[in-house]
Parts: sequence; structure tokens; C-alpha cells
Amino acid sequence: MKSNKMGMNTICAHAGELKDEQFKGAISPLYMSSSYAYENVDVKRYPRYFNTPNQEALGKKIAALEHTEAGMIFGSGMAAVSHSLLAFLQKGDHIVLQKTLYGGTYNFVVEEFEKFGIEYTFANGFSEADFRSALQTNTKVIYVETPSNPLMLLTDLEMISKIAREHNLVSIIDNTFASPINQNPADFGIDIIIHSATKYMGGHSDICAGAVAASNKHMEQIWNLSKNIGGSLSDYTVWLLERSLKTMALRVKAQNRNAKKMAKWLQKHPLVAKVYYPGLKEHPDYLLARKQMRGYSGMLSFELIPSVNPEAFMEALQLIKQSMSLAGVESTILSPAKTSHALLTAEERTHQGISDNLLRFSVGIEEKKDLVEDIEQAFEAVVNKELV
Ligand SMILES: *Cc1c(COP(=O)(O)O)cnc(C)c1O
Repeated sequence: MKSNKMGMNTICAHAGELKDEQFKGAISPLYMSSSYAYENVDVKRYPRYFNTPNQEALGKKIAALEHTEAGMIFGSGMAAVSHSLLAFLQKGDHIVLQKTLYGGTYNFVVEEFEKFGIEYTFANGFSEADFRSALQTNTKVIYVETPSNPLMLLTDLEMISKIAREHNLVSIIDNTFASPINQNPADFGIDIIIHSATKYMGGHSDICAGAVAASNKHMEQIWNLSKNIGGSLSDYTVWLLERSLKTMALRVKAQNRNAKKMAKWLQKHPLVAKVYYPGLKEHPDYLLARKQMRGYSGMLSFELIPSVNPEAFMEALQLIKQSMSLAGVESTILSPAKTSHALLTAEERTHQGISDNLLRFSVGIEEKKDLVEDIEQAFEAVVNKELV
């Protein structure tokens, strides 16, 4: 069966798997060799060449998940981001980037690009005019992230690939927040798809990895760079990630359902001022979400009313943990103003719509009633304290 004809759960469970010819075991064997024979072999294998049996097998699963020809696994999401950018940019080139990006990607651009002689412009907003007006004659790459962190604003993928085709640019997307279960950017003509596999792909908050999906032609360019930089992932972690991916569709669909239920519940709560979730009709990008996403992910943000102290509220939560990362099967929460967006000025945060009372909620797989109960008891604890 062709992997692009298989359903998502079948791809998750089987695509790319290695056959255990010797013992007929049910799962991919783990090959830990860092040294392989070189005579009379079709591939010269070496872990830093990203081509050990397990690395190659997982690359095939990534490609099947993202509807591309090729896939590659990296040592972290940022290794996937940095390789994808540097593979297509040279001295004198220019890149247009979406305005709101993952903090690490933003830092990589503003702290490193100057020494490579690469110019960059952040688009003013999310519209076609915003991206078009940022183009220069030396623009080579257009880079987006949708849904974006933390307000879950969307960029129109078809619009981005149209601009890219017209101007002969390589289009790159960080698809981490959506996961391949909810969004396949290649179907809209995007060239390079990046994931921090630390998030939904790993899904259990115990793996740091990155993934890239692309055509064979684009991947060759990334691979040529990667051999020289050397950011490959150890085979043991590759094998663990393959195990995690088997349940990704089940996990993500449960997280989608939970997040939508929690978004609707929070929306009605008197202590919540606003909820940001693309699966809500009130979200400004609801129609775009319906066009380019199959599910709306487990990520949402909400703003507490001014009289509720966000730190006290988070401290009072017992089931939902405060955490910097996201997308695990366990629900976690953080304050963007205190973490991911702490380095921005208060003015810039306000401009981006990130108030001190905004909380980012990564919804896990727990039962809704338990999440509701936890939030209610935390509200009770802080509201009572304020009255005392
Ligand atoms: C976490 C994250 C990254 C970076 O991934 P690491 O695995 O931490 O290097 C990149 N993009 C997004 C959207 C992320 O959430």
C-alpha cells in the first residue's frame, strides 16, 4: 500500500518501519552502530550523515506524515530551523519572516544572520500586503509559523505559496503548533515543513528532537549542509521518537477535542475576559482555520479579568502544571509575558496583544471534568484570598 493512500493512524503506526528479518519482532529493531562497512554497499552509513537505519526509517515516516518525498530528523527543533534557513540563504540574500515567531527562531535570525551577511525583514502583519511589501529584489526565502504563539493567529498557506512561486522563493513553515495531524502545508504548496519534534511528535515531554519534510531536491540541499554542521539525533532517541509517533494521531485528536471543549467552557467563565482558539467562531481566523486545518490543535490562550492575579491562579492549580514547553499528554500552562515574551518591552507586548493576564494553555488528554475542576478550585482559592 502506498503510504500517501494510508490513513493517519496507519501512517503513524507503520510508515517507514524497519523489518526484523532475523527474529520477526513486531517493531523496528534498534541499530546502535556508529560504524558501518563501506565496501560494496549502496549507502555509506554514519550517524552524523543522518543515514543510519533508524534515522532513515524515521525520515520516511515524517515524509509520509507530511505528504512530501523526503524527511529528516535532527537533534532539536532549532537544529531543524537553523539548517532549513541556512541551506537556502547565502551572503547578500534576503529573507521575509512572519512577525510573530518562536523566540528561539527570532533570536537565531537577529543574533546570527548579520555575521553571515544575510538581510531580513519581519512582515508588519499577517496579510498578503504585509508580506508583499516586505519583499526585496534579493529575497530568496519566505518563512512563516501558523498557528502562531501565543494568540493562535493564522497565516494563509495558499497565499504564502503563491507569493513564493511568483518570486521564485523557497517557502518554509514551522508546523509545530498544528502537528501533521491537523495541517499538511505541502498540500498548499509550501516547500519546507519544520517541526520541533520535542512537542506533538514526541508528545510525552521526554524527547528533544526536530524534523524536516521536503522534496528530494530541497532535502539534498539541507542534507549537504547538515553533514558539515552535525546536528543529528542519537539512534536511541530516534527509536523512542518512532514509538511516540505511533500514537500521535490518537493523542492529537484527543487534545484537539479537549482544547475545543475547554475553549468553549473558558469563554463562558465570568473570570475569563477572552479566549484565543482558532476552532472558535469568534476567533478572527476561524474561516481560514477551517480551510487549511483538519483540527485546531491542543493549544489555546486565555486572558483572566484584571482582578485575578495570574501568578496566584497558576500557583493554585494542582493538576495543570506550569511548564515552559507544550504539547505533552499532560496539560500545562505558562505566562507568555513572564517567559517566551519576557524580553519584549511592555509596550511591544501590548502592541502584540500579550497582556500580563494572558495565559497559554497546552491542553493534554485528561478528562475535561478534571481540568474544569482544577481550574475552578484554583479560581476559588485566589478569589477567596483576595477577599480576605
Ligand atoms: C519548541 C519550538 C521550537 C524549537 O524546538 P526545540 O526542540 O526546543 O529546539 C521551534 N518552533 C516552535 C514553534 C516551538 O514551539
